[in-house]
Amino acid sequence: MSLAYYQKLADEWDAGGRTELVTHDYQLTGMFCWMQGAMKKKIPVPANVRAWVAHSWAAQKRLYPNWYWNFLGQRENCDMCGARYLLENLSFCTRLNSTYCWDCRGRFEISPITGNPMCSCGGEIVG
Ligand SMILES: [Zn+2]
Ligand SMILES: [Zn+2]
Repeated sequence: MSLAYYQKLADEWDAGGRTELVTHDYQLTGMFCWMQGAMKKKIPVPANVRAWVAHSWAAQKRLYPNWYWNFLGQRENCDMCGARYLLENLSFCTRLNSTYCWDCRGRFEISPITGNPMCSCGGEIVG
């Protein structure tokens, strides 16, 4: 479940003085999409998880103002069937940064809590 995973990472971020930000494009995009989905479903997201994503997003934007659009414009393979798509048309695993096409994401069971497909690694598939 991604919330427990993010909570643990955010607690570590707190304990470390909130210095280390997420600058991994895949992870940050996955977290951002996951959080948007959770908020739409009115799932309470802990304040430090929200703060961590917001800080990371702002830091990434300061360094690379167009990073999000550049990132989504790259091509990547679906990790299950190998088909190649623009990243904006692929879905992201919140945990191991795998990418899945629309067909393949439909093969995973849906989380009854978040409504996201559940990846075999324990993460959720978002975006
Ligand atoms: Zn696929
Ligand atoms: Zn996964």
